[in-house]
Amino acid sequence: MSDALTPRVRPTIEALPTYKAGKKAQAVDALAPYKLSSNEIALAPLPSVLAVIAETAQDINRYPDPFATELLAALADKMNVAVDNIAIGTGSVGVCQQIVQAMVDAGDEVMFAWRSFEAYPIISSIAGAHSVQVPLLGDGAHDLQGMAAAVTPKTKVIFLCTPNNPTGNVISQSEFDEFISQIPSHVLVIIDEAYVEFNRDENAVDGLASMFAHPNVGILRTFSKAYGLAALRVGYFVGPVHIAQAVAKTAVPFGVSSIAQAAAVESLNCETELLNRVEVVTQERVKCEEQLRELGVSLHASQANFMWWPLGASTDEFAQLCTENAIAVRAFSGEGVRISIGEPGAMGRLVEIVREFLARG
Ligand code: PMP
Repeated sequence: MSDALTPRVRPTIEALPTYKAGKKAQAVDALAPYKLSSNEIALAPLPSVLAVIAETAQDINRYPDPFATELLAALADKMNVAVDNIAIGTGSVGVCQQIVQAMVDAGDEVMFAWRSFEAYPIISSIAGAHSVQVPLLGDGAHDLQGMAAAVTPKTKVIFLCTPNNPTGNVISQSEFDEFISQIPSHVLVIIDEAYVEFNRDENAVDGLASMFAHPNVGILRTFSKAYGLAALRVGYFVGPVHIAQAVAKTAVPFGVSSIAQAAAVESLNCETELLNRVEVVTQERVKCEEQLRELGVSLHASQANFMWWPLGASTDEFAQLCTENAIAVRAFSGEGVRISIGEPGAMGRLVEIVREFLARG
């Protein structure tokens, strides 16, 4: 059959890079494998969450509640908004896609910093939009002036990722305030707060307060990171009612399973316990950063559950040494390596690997 008669994939989709997920760690000899490549919580789920999952599994012959009524009510309570201000989806990456589909026509522009969350350009291309990628500043921070200057009449959505994946930097409230004052009110600004629970910088932008203060600001949150439900795929948008309702409309029907909904509700019930675990992770981050800096490593200032080491041309060599020592990290070839904060044993081994790497000269 000639090519002309076969179904054709859209050229934009053919040109799309495949999403690169963090690799699994491979055991090496007697070394336990540690996965520090996907910014997950390393601790096992809470027993009460597992119990709810087992109980809900009894009903998987039934479709889930398409409106996630209980979860929306619990989130409205937590965020102090009306349920109409919230839209949920299959992980915050699903919600990201819903936002773009709700707001962007083919040929419009979606703006974000680069490097940032890898899904932004993919989602923009799928929608037929043009990605406007504004390079990060040298220290890994957003170039907000550059972003404001790059707005055009075609700009529909701007993603601000804070703390930024993969550099870990946060945008301060004053930087955000100055930025938003320059952005036309028809442009939707999304503050992607996937890692916000790990932030300890008091000057960082308060997404929710900023959302209340501006009619063109929304926030994006997830249960995948601090709440430890990465495999269950629940994320949510909070913003102006008409936008939240549009974002809800573009969701895959029944996308968030009954098990995911119930586990998310239970996780909100256990929030104090979960946030105590987050505190342990942030303390581990501070400790590990100190140890690495003592070795002479220059890290960015991370407020997330990962660290960014801009290793440039040595990135792959370091990642390979980690692999040989049964640790998976996320290497961005030629740029740097992102290392998630994991078990204390993982971080201890990582420091030793760094020591060995630096000794190679
Ligand atoms: N936003 C950012 C900044 C992320 O790093 C990620 C996950 N890597 C997501 C959103 C999506 O996470 P999830 O779909 O698991 O909620």
